[in-house]
Parts: sequence; structure tokens; C-alpha cells
Amino acid sequence: MNFFARFIFIAFFTVSLSFVSCRKAEAARTELVFGTVCTVNAFDDGTTELYNSLFERLHSMDEKFSTSKSNSEIEKINAAAGKSAVEISDEVLFVLKIALSFAEITNGAFDPTVGPLVKLWGINTEYARVPEQWEIDNALKLVDWSRVKIEENKVFLPVEGMRLDLGGIVKGYAADVLAFMVKEAGVKCAVIDLGGNIYVAGKKKDRSLWRVGVKNPQNPEHSTAITLSLPENSVVTSGVYERFFIKNNIRYHHIINPKTGYPVDNGLTSVTIVSKSSTACDALSTSLFILGMEKGFALLKQLERQNFPTAGITVKEKTADSTDGMGMWLFGSGAVNDDGFENPVKLTAAGLPFVEKAEGMADCFNALYIDSENYMYSTEDLKKCYGMS
Ligand code: AMP
Ligand code: MG
Repeated sequence: MNFFARFIFIAFFTVSLSFVSCRKAEAARTELVFGTVCTVNAFDDGTTELYNSLFERLHSMDEKFSTSKSNSEIEKINAAAGKSAVEISDEVLFVLKIALSFAEITNGAFDPTVGPLVKLWGINTEYARVPEQWEIDNALKLVDWSRVKIEENKVFLPVEGMRLDLGGIVKGYAADVLAFMVKEAGVKCAVIDLGGNIYVAGKKKDRSLWRVGVKNPQNPEHSTAITLSLPENSVVTSGVYERFFIKNNIRYHHIINPKTGYPVDNGLTSVTIVSKSSTACDALSTSLFILGMEKGFALLKQLERQNFPTAGITVKEKTADSTDGMGMWLFGSGAVNDDGFENPVKLTAAGLPFVEKAEGMADCFNALYIDSENYMYSTEDLKKCYGMS
């Protein structure tokens, strides 16, 4: 090969290599969304185009659900409280309805109208403080999920000062959306981490189980309490160490008991939920933290039964165009909403996420509680995941 031919060959080879590498393999991407650090790693299948579309979707959800952006749909509803109903997108309506279903099933322990209390305590803001009792009493009067009025796509909060806050569920929903998107894109395995709200999707290249650490609440930045070995699942933790401030040696954190108006103080330091629905994991980690161990484990058993509804359970409302014969509303099988995307979350007759069983696990919903003495209490499936049985 003469010099010129060799030059052409090398140039061609280099260009084709860089073309391949520009389409392929962008390392995991991290951006700040939902006020937290969000990372997606699609390993060998991660391309710039894929990450662009995933993060575009994440930012668009943040724009709709944020309580810190005045033009978000949630803040428009809040600003119009006591005045007028606000028309919202199918997507926000969908998540709001799920949140209200969790409120119903937890007897209001999980309450998406907890906004006035969240605002009053200001956890994680520069105005965080311990409010006066009269302020808490006033805010408590504005917290009542059963007063949210929904008519078609219009939402109305009947009293001025009422505020929606979907911070306890939206990252889970977003993780489900992203998990769906990566699968649609043909990605074989991915880790989605939205501020610690984890979804491990697909199977690892070497077929081994995923390993997901659960933080040690006593030293969350530097050590893990345990590591779970899991098949595809979502793993979501609610803990006292996530967002808090300390005043007079008392820790005030971000999970508020809607009955007392105070951060939950029940000797627990974290609750981790494992299931194939990140939406369910997120709502349940917050709920089970508030409910405590006894009621929390009982709720999981109840959900396990309701997950496959029998003929006796009536469908409250039909929002999608068909049911699948088990009494489920079918989203995620072609249902495209007003924003032109497919909603990946299927619901049961009770309006809660339908949760598939993870490979090799006995139950659809699993939980791990850690208390202030670092004792751990978990469902049987999880004991196997960290080698306890
Ligand atoms: P998580 O970190 O998922 O447990 O969610 C905590 C977030 O949910 C808080 O930062 C609030 O935005 C919101 N939240 C706090 N208390 C409640 C509650 N009782 N019910 C529903 N959402 C809550
Ligand atoms: Mg949550």
C-alpha cells in the first residue's frame, strides 16, 4: 500500500471508529432533576440519543410535578386553591389518582395534601424551623385528601391554603417511566437511580443478581446496613437521614405524620420497599414509615391479596379503554395519553399500581425496616436477599 492509500485507509478506519463510538457507549449520565442527583446507566446500550430522551422526559416530569416551580401544574392547582379548578395533563392526573388511592388504603397516613405542613416545616430550605403549635393546628385543618375534587381533567382544592405535594411518589413514577423507556429502546440492562430511588432493570451481562446497598441510617454517606442481591426490581428507601435539620438535639425530618403535623417519631430510622413497581415502592416507603412496623407489614399482606383482584371487587372507575379480564385497567398496552407517550403503569381495581412478581420471589411486595438501634426486620423474600435464611 503506498503512503496515500495507507493514509486514506487509516483516516477511514479512524472516522468509522469514532462514528461507532459516538453512536454507542456514552458512560452513565447524571443530572440534577427533582432537586436531587439522578443517574441512569444503560451500560453497553447507553447512547447519547438514549440518555437525551430519558433526561428530557425526566425534566418534563419535574416541570409538571414540582412544588418549587410556580408554573408547574401542581403549583397552579395550589395557587388556585379555594378559587377555581385547574385543568391538568393526563399524566399529573394519573399520578394524583394513584396517590389518592394510597391515601385511602393507608387511612390517610400517606396524604398528597400534606403540602401546608411540608411548607410550614420548610425541611431542606433556608427557612426550616420548628413551627409554633398554633401554626401546626392551622395547617392541619388544610390537610385532607378526601376533599380533593376531580372532575374529568380538572382538579380543585376547596380551601385556600390547601396544597398538593406529590414528593412522596413522583420519583417512583418517574423511575417506572424510565425503566419502560429503556426496555422499549432494547436496552438489556440498566440502573436508574433517582436520588436513591433505584430501579435495576433487565439482567446483568454475566447473569448474576443485582446488588443494591441499603444505607446504614447511622452513617448513611459512608456505610451500608446490608446489600440486597436481587433480580430486576425497584428498591426505594424512606429514612430520617434524607432531609432533616437538628434543633436542640432533636432531629426534624421530612416525613410528616398528617394526623399530628410533626415529623414521624416512632423509633424507626428507615424503611426500604422492594417490588417491581417503583411507583408502589415510593408511596409505600413513605406510608410504611408513618404506619410503623405492625400496620406496615399488615398493609403489605393486604396489598398482596388485592394485587390479583377477584371477581367480587368492583372496578371503581374505568379510565382506560379496556380491562384485561382480571379487573385491571390497562395502561401500558398502547394507551397513549395527551402528551403522546405511553403510560407504563398498570393499575389494579383499587387504583393502585399492579405489581408483577419478581423472578424467584414469593411475594410481590417486600419491606425492610431499620430501627434506631439498627435492628432490622424484613419480609421472608428479603431475608434471602441478604443471606439471613
Ligand atoms: P419519601 O422521601 O419518598 O419518603 O417522601 C418524602 C416526601 O413526601 C416529603 O419530602 C414530602 O414532599 C412528602 N411527604 C411528607 N410527608 C408525607 C405524607 N404523610 N404523605 C405523603 N407525602 C408526604
Ligand atoms: Mg416515597
